Amino acid sequence: MSGPLMLVTGGSRGIGAAVARLAAAEGWTVAVNYVRDETAANGLVAAIESDGGSAFAVKGDVGSEADVLAVFRAVDRAGPLKALVNNAGIVDRVGRLDTFSAARIERMFRINVLGSFLCAREAVKRMSTAHGGSGGTIVNVSSAAAKFGGPDQYIDYASAKGAIDTMTVGLAKEVIREGVRVCAVRPGIIETEIHASGGQPDRVAEMGPGLPMGRAGTAEEVARAILWLASDAASYSSGAILDVSGGRSIWP
Ligand code: NAP
Repeated sequence: MSGPLMLVTGGSRGIGAAVARLAAAEGWTVAVNYVRDETAANGLVAAIESDGGSAFAVKGDVGSEADVLAVFRAVDRAGPLKALVNNAGIVDRVGRLDTFSAARIERMFRINVLGSFLCAREAVKRMSTAHGGSGGTIVNVSSAAAKFGGPDQYIDYASAKGAIDTMTVGLAKEVIREGVRVCAVRPGIIETEIHASGGQPDRVAEMGPGLPMGRAGTAEEVARAILWLASDAASYSSGAILDVSGGRSIWP
């Protein structure tokens, strides 16, 4: 493995895959985590390698502590971790809170919140100078929904992302003198498969024209913001949460 090491959770598709591709092009060695779609993860690694980059796939459910520990053991074998992109996340079917089962809410928070916390914990243990590390960055992937609350759609998802915003600020303060910067992005409506997985395959086409810019965003537009926050170019930014939502977050 060559360049500095970045772990991208949920890196096999969508925003995570765009981060992995662009990071590898910038010289990072990328650990591409996925949970289910091995073909997509291996295909992405092959594409990165054929472009001269360095990457490897590592399977694991971020909502499982045992899996997270195994993912980080695999990362350790590749070198010292310098950046974590806490990207893995899920949505569920659109609905009102008064229809949500306990199982749904538990799954939403286990993957979107517990998963990000466990990965952040393992990253801090490796990167913080208080643990003998040499510093690094964590970029969390939140959502504009954290600001809107997701009424009539998915308040559970929006609330989970609200927890990510709060963790970003709190953890940034905890480790700011230990060489670790912690930031986040809040994407708006982005063209990925996540909408279909939530039962809304036409969400981007339906909502795009009504968004402030008249279109949805691309995974690459979000990835560029993530990579900037992860890079030394953002060396004086910590606890920052960047809206990448085509103006949606400032609209009434
Ligand atoms: P996506 O296209 O559905 O891709 C999800 C990725 O996460 C896949 O690589 C998937 O792996 C992985 N994943 C799912 N559950 C996982 C788990 N338990 N453990 C490890 N990996 C898991 O999603 P996306 O749209 O790129 O979303 C990425 C992040 O951006 C999420 O946190 C999402 O909440 C956030 N976001 C997205 C939008 C949007 O409009 N797209 C807006 C705001 C925020 P497999 O390929 O193996 O299934």
